[in-house]
Amino acid sequence: EGATSKSASRKAPARAAPRLSSPGKLIFPDIRATKQDVADYYLAVMDRLLPEIAGRPLSIIRCPGGAEKPCFFQKHHTPGLELVSFARLKEEAGNNANYLVVEDAAGLMELVQFNALEFHPWGARADSPDLADRVVFDLDPGPGVPFAEVKRAATHVRRLLEQLELESFLRSTGGKGLHVVVPLDPGCQWDLVKRFAHGFADALARSEPRRFVSVATLKLRPKKIFVDYLRNSRGATSVASYSLRARAGAPVALPLAWSELPRLKCGDAFTIKDVPARLKRRRKDPWAGIDKVKQNLARWADDRSP
Ligand code: ATP
Ligand code: MN
Ligand code: MN
Repeated sequence: EGATSKSASRKAPARAAPRLSSPGKLIFPDIRATKQDVADYYLAVMDRLLPEIAGRPLSIIRCPGGAEKPCFFQKHHTPGLELVSFARLKEEAGNNANYLVVEDAAGLMELVQFNALEFHPWGARADSPDLADRVVFDLDPGPGVPFAEVKRAATHVRRLLEQLELESFLRSTGGKGLHVVVPLDPGCQWDLVKRFAHGFADALARSEPRRFVSVATLKLRPKKIFVDYLRNSRGATSVASYSLRARAGAPVALPLAWSELPRLKCGDAFTIKDVPARLKRRRKDPWAGIDKVKQNLARWADDRSP
């Protein structure tokens, strides 16, 4: 349980990426982006993307007919994958299964060759799947919520986390909302993380019931933002920073500095076309230091004790 295969953890020389078949196939017909364009995009962002997903159980969204045709979610390793590792993990039903784990660029590019468009890691590492090291508050606006309201919500979540002495990081999802990500070091048991995230979302909805809802069955309430705490359980995933989204215009899930939030126009402001150039222009990683942050949920647990 929890160990990646020996061959994957050994420091090996960089392996060659697999050959790309059908490079000219249109994957995003609306912007005429081909499978080659998708491969070129992932090679361009590889140095930033890989640390976000390597060594973590990974779900992928595969779109064999392109982003406008049916896509499917895959979490298990399948025959034919030769450069992608796996972790044998216990599933909810009690059985064990082999979860996809990418270790290097060659593995990532093999998944691209298999028509993966989106990458969704766990908030835990494959070698300690029971300890969460990322909490994700996924802000999901219902119909009619202006994006300015989503931005205010993200700032609000950040301030409340600061009161618990927790530093957080901002991600534009490439979709409609924003993610506020809290790194934990040392990692924390999932049941505690889950109670924290759920309690935090409930408190937010109680304090401002006109703006927020935290009940999963009410998640698409008009004019309200669902504080989706459900990303925070063993086996749940969130989209990786720098992943493409299989949506119109090939948007990218992009990590941002909090200082960039005021100027942000929408959740899908960044795309396959402009992100590589943006990375060249701004050398500094907006999430620099996220893996050096030492923080845990002790302050929250203390606040709750009588
Ligand atoms: P948006 O900003 O548009 O909400 P998002 O990536 O946050 O974009 P959500 O629908 O809120 O999209 O989903 C959040 C995360 O939950 C996804 O990134 C994905 O990892 C996971 N997820 C969503 N739906 C499923 C599903 N049907 N099965 C497994 N995981 C899912
Ligand atoms: Mn969301
Ligand atoms: Mn959601």
